[in-house]
Amino acid sequence: MSQPTGAEHIFWDLTDLYSAPDAAELQSDKKKVLEMAARFGEVWRGRIASLSSDEFLTCLNELEAIQDLGGRIGSYAYLSWSADTENPTLGKLLQEATELGSEIGQKLVFFDVEWLKTDDVTAKKHIESETLRGYRHYLEASRRYKPHTLSEEQEQMLQAKSVTGQQAWVRFFDETLGAAKFPFREEELSEQEILSKLHEPDRDIRKDASDGFTTALKGLSRTLTFVFNTLLADKKTNDALRNYPSWISARNLSNEISDATVENLVASVQAYYPVVQRYYRLKRRLLGYDKLYDYDRYAPLMQTESTVSWEEAREMVLSSYSGFHPEMGRIAGEFFEKNWIDAALRPGKRSGAYAASTVPSVHPYVFMNYTGQLRDVQTLAHELGHGVHQYLSRKNGIFQADTPLTTAETASVFGEMLVFQNITARLTDPKEKLALLMEKIDDTIATVFRQVSMNRFEHAMHTARREEGELASERLSELWFETQRALYGDSVELTDNYRNWWMYIPHFLHTPGYVYAYAFGELLVLSLYNMYQQQPQGFADRYLQLLSAGGSEWPEKLVARIGLNVEDPQFWTQGLQLFEQLVVKAEEAAAAAGLAG
Ligand SMILES: [Zn+2]
Repeated sequence: MSQPTGAEHIFWDLTDLYSAPDAAELQSDKKKVLEMAARFGEVWRGRIASLSSDEFLTCLNELEAIQDLGGRIGSYAYLSWSADTENPTLGKLLQEATELGSEIGQKLVFFDVEWLKTDDVTAKKHIESETLRGYRHYLEASRRYKPHTLSEEQEQMLQAKSVTGQQAWVRFFDETLGAAKFPFREEELSEQEILSKLHEPDRDIRKDASDGFTTALKGLSRTLTFVFNTLLADKKTNDALRNYPSWISARNLSNEISDATVENLVASVQAYYPVVQRYYRLKRRLLGYDKLYDYDRYAPLMQTESTVSWEEAREMVLSSYSGFHPEMGRIAGEFFEKNWIDAALRPGKRSGAYAASTVPSVHPYVFMNYTGQLRDVQTLAHELGHGVHQYLSRKNGIFQADTPLTTAETASVFGEMLVFQNITARLTDPKEKLALLMEKIDDTIATVFRQVSMNRFEHAMHTARREEGELASERLSELWFETQRALYGDSVELTDNYRNWWMYIPHFLHTPGYVYAYAFGELLVLSLYNMYQQQPQGFADRYLQLLSAGGSEWPEKLVARIGLNVEDPQFWTQGLQLFEQLVVKAEEAAAAAGLAG
């Protein structure tokens, strides 16, 4: 496709998980984990509510070992498959691992049910016991599910039926969009290919991409509207069965954050919509347009043709990380030296990027498709941020290693910020500096404001589905258009095409309520980074301690240790003011370069 980057030979080495898809050890582990889960049931079923804290510790250790082994099999299957999705052996391996996971889950669900039935006095004794110190947060946080958990049989039934219910509909959605062909001029493109054309400097290309993308979505409208309605109704049923008062309650509970904090976040971001509109007016002037259309939002200020080699990318990320804290540079360096990264492009490899924590007894891996653009360097910094976080938090064990979604994006976004500052410092041409700053603002808008406007859409569609019943495609388009219009005001002309662009966004179906977590993470990082600039002394050590704590404490308590209070009604405004400063900086840089008044 493009010129070589040096990433052509960057393959990961998965042998720390298993040596091969047909390895004897993998086959025997599949049997072993089911036996362990069955034995766990024989030993502990019916006893959870009456265990001493010492026995409870033994029980949790066994449960942890089962989860670790199951997680190792699942991770190996998913990682192998994602690098080679057209390989039927790996597809089969992944499906078997999914079914194995469901089987293990059904065998273990009694533990949760019995733990939640345990009376409050006994539960409190375990939570406060020194013996169970290493599980305290997990035990405390899980008790919040007491009013929302059903009987063991009902839980097993729901788990079994969701394989052919909710999970099947989500997979159908993924496969429908995965197989969709989007017309672009004489070609037919995939979703990722056509969406990447919205970043092209040539306006005609962006417009044609917008037309082609819309044409295909309209063709799928009946199918996708049906999938949305089915999943909205399925969620309504589940929420009712589990006594959740609103569509977002379950998400806030798993994010370990109060409804009030989330409402405050959303309202604070909405109050800054006018700053976004001000930025788009600047962008329109700089691009020299009379009107800025929705397909112009990602237009770059200038064409940057230069390719960043893999070696340069590695150096940029490692020097940024080491400059912040030597330990962070050392850990990130391990990913390169020990082949924990897969970056080479090849047919059949899944698109996108992720960091997989795998299981605490192994180590994280990073997955990406490196094409040599500056954006890819940011992606590498982002995923290595996750990687370093996961590496450090492993020591908390499988129940407390991962953080809830609210703080899961902290290290990744912070890592991007370090690299952005490093690259800015290296640039000398003021126009290039401005172009990079505007890319940063575009990214921040996408992460903070666009996600909050999507949260407003989710709120509107879940509420409408509950109050009005089945929703027509046009009704969904209307709700989408209203919530997007609120964000852009008259600074961006939203075309009729854009009315249909709710249909392809996977988060709405994969993880309802997810999107506000991005805004949470980005604004938290802006505040953290500001703190680092104000008082660098000792900050990096405190930050690394924050990462090492993983999910062993409530998110608001973790960030309080570093001096931030997310429950303060003014908290989000601090980050938003920093965003406004970036916009002011861009306006000033543009004026100084004589580009726009
Ligand atoms: Zn991320």
